[in-house]
Amino acid sequence: MLDKFNREINYLRVSITDRCNLHCSYCRPKEGISLQGHDDILRYEEIIRIVSVAVKMGLVKVRVTGGEPLVRKGFVNFIAELKKIDGLQDISLTTNGILLEEFAQNIFDAGICRINISLDSLNKDKYSRITNGGDLDAVLRGIARAEEVGFAPIKINTVAIKGFNDDEALDFARLAADKPFQVRFIELMPVGKTNLDYGEDYMPTSQLIDKIRQSYKLEQIKNKKNKSDGPAKIYKIKGGRGEIGFINPVSDHFCSTCNRLRLTSDGKLRVCLLNEKEVDLKTALRENCSDAELEKLFWDAVLLKPKQHDLICTENSLKKCRNMSAIGG
Ligand code: SAM
Repeated sequence: MLDKFNREINYLRVSITDRCNLHCSYCRPKEGISLQGHDDILRYEEIIRIVSVAVKMGLVKVRVTGGEPLVRKGFVNFIAELKKIDGLQDISLTTNGILLEEFAQNIFDAGICRINISLDSLNKDKYSRITNGGDLDAVLRGIARAEEVGFAPIKINTVAIKGFNDDEALDFARLAADKPFQVRFIELMPVGKTNLDYGEDYMPTSQLIDKIRQSYKLEQIKNKKNKSDGPAKIYKIKGGRGEIGFINPVSDHFCSTCNRLRLTSDGKLRVCLLNEKEVDLKTALRENCSDAELEKLFWDAVLLKPKQHDLICTENSLKKCRNMSAIGG
């Protein structure tokens, strides 16, 4: 699927729920979020049908996300069904890791090949604060279990928040030096109504790389050995086991290489994370549309993709925007 700017669209992020067992202040605050009703959310069979049609059009990669995907009942079976889709080459997962200790083996066996775990602090109290009650130890046990069952690479996603975790840059670098993980700092994006003040809390990740370079020698990995790195700039820590990465959607956006669409849990194809245009698949599905009609809707979404995102973060535009937990990240 080539869009108007000659980008090949072959990757779908699928949010299977807007529910989450955490309330991260920049994503899904405790107050003021309305949740989708049971009937609003796509059934697993509907998602499988959408992905099957898209694979025939050239989709090769799916990342399952949420809300928190591991809280949705029947998740392992859903992955096993996705895995049966002929031509789908890569199924990955983004999770907060809270339930990973319990599910790691089953999801590995069902067919998840890569896993990203979100972790914004290595300090128990701070982790609890940013997630509104999350238990850091549960996540660390989940990561250890994921390593044990054989997930590789394990990627740790850390949203860089000024005055909150910038003082932990070296702790995260040490984690990447000691373990075969890829720790990636992601710039905070203005999405939805949250508890953070974007203007105050945003920081470019270039400030973190400068801090880390004072203690570690970093070598940029130029020829991406692995396409799964996506838009991250990846560095090997000299003498260490893992890697460190920086994802800069704000300070150095990578829209020209965007290859993705997003399927929201309520059945909309979202054409860009930071753009409100969406194509409704759920209504068509529930009116028994044909595969050809679904294909046409996919094309509509591909052709609606903007050249680049609009980062308009006025108070009003943020209120209108879906929260990240309803998009999937
Ligand atoms: N619950 C899962 C998790 O925590 O990874 C999946 C959903 S979560 C919405 C996906 C990713 O989006 C997480 O890594 C989270 O940190 C990131 N995210 C959420 N809000 C964000 C924001 N405003 N800016 C940057 N990243 C954000």
